[in-house]
Amino acid sequence: MPPGLYIVATPIGNLGDISQRALDTLKGADVIACEDTRVTGVLLQRFSITTPMTPYHDHNADRVRPQLIGRLQAGAAVALVSDAGTPLISDPGYKLVRECAALGIATIPLPGPSALLAALTVAALPTDQVMFAGFLPAKSGMRKDTLMSLKTLRATLVFYEAPPRLAESLADMTAVLGLRDAAVCRELTKLHEEIRRGTLRELADAYAAEATPKGEVVVVVAGAPADQDVVDDAALDAALRSALETMSVRDAAAAVAEALNQPRRTIYARALELAKK
Ligand code: SAM
Repeated sequence: MPPGLYIVATPIGNLGDISQRALDTLKGADVIACEDTRVTGVLLQRFSITTPMTPYHDHNADRVRPQLIGRLQAGAAVALVSDAGTPLISDPGYKLVRECAALGIATIPLPGPSALLAALTVAALPTDQVMFAGFLPAKSGMRKDTLMSLKTLRATLVFYEAPPRLAESLADMTAVLGLRDAAVCRELTKLHEEIRRGTLRELADAYAAEATPKGEVVVVVAGAPADQDVVDDAALDAALRSALETMSVRDAAAAVAEALNQPRRTIYARALELAKK
């Protein structure tokens, strides 16, 4: 196989989603750099691939990267995989690719499964513009700050989320992003695949009332409505602070929502936050 770094997408659940080219590459490579040799070992065993594996993950990357680069410079074909899906998408690999690019080492993409794209195809939301926001911060305050920075985007928003945080994340999304359509895509390509669509509020209420869901989850949320003016966060906060000097939270929110053509519910949530601060 020609030398270089092969970025190989692997299934996100259903092993039948592996591509023929991915199998050929994993078989032909000199070494497979993977996050967890036990996880990738299952895949290799299933397809009778005996290529040696070497761990490459967030905790050893700085130490292992120079070794991989050394092997690539010596002419090796290195396949990079993650536990599931496409490497680099909320997974390790970016710094390795960056270093290869800087050193003139070939980087070869092998596209395939990714939870991001699988969720987008079934969310029933526009896909002409998409903002992949990865995992939101675990703490509500920082999570809301991140959501505030996304709320004026017209693009459909995609988040990866951990099931134990799903209900509270949906509640924060409702508070900050307002009344929008959304989809929770769980266990894609697996036995218990589930796609639930509704408004953010409906989904937040539903998951708040249920036991923590099992498995893996992607949340897809409609972008800012086109008939809503895009208002800079700083301008919005300034308007709210000024209104709060002379009005109750409710009246200030109503006045600012009207003046800036924004949804009342969202503005009220922000006014409450500012009033508390
Ligand atoms: N690189 C992977 C990809 O291309 O999708 C994503 C890796 S990221 C560490 C893992 C997250 O992806 C999970 O927490 C979940 O949000 C999402 N995910 C992965 N597999 C999934 C599946 N089968 N169904 C739903 N979400 C999934």
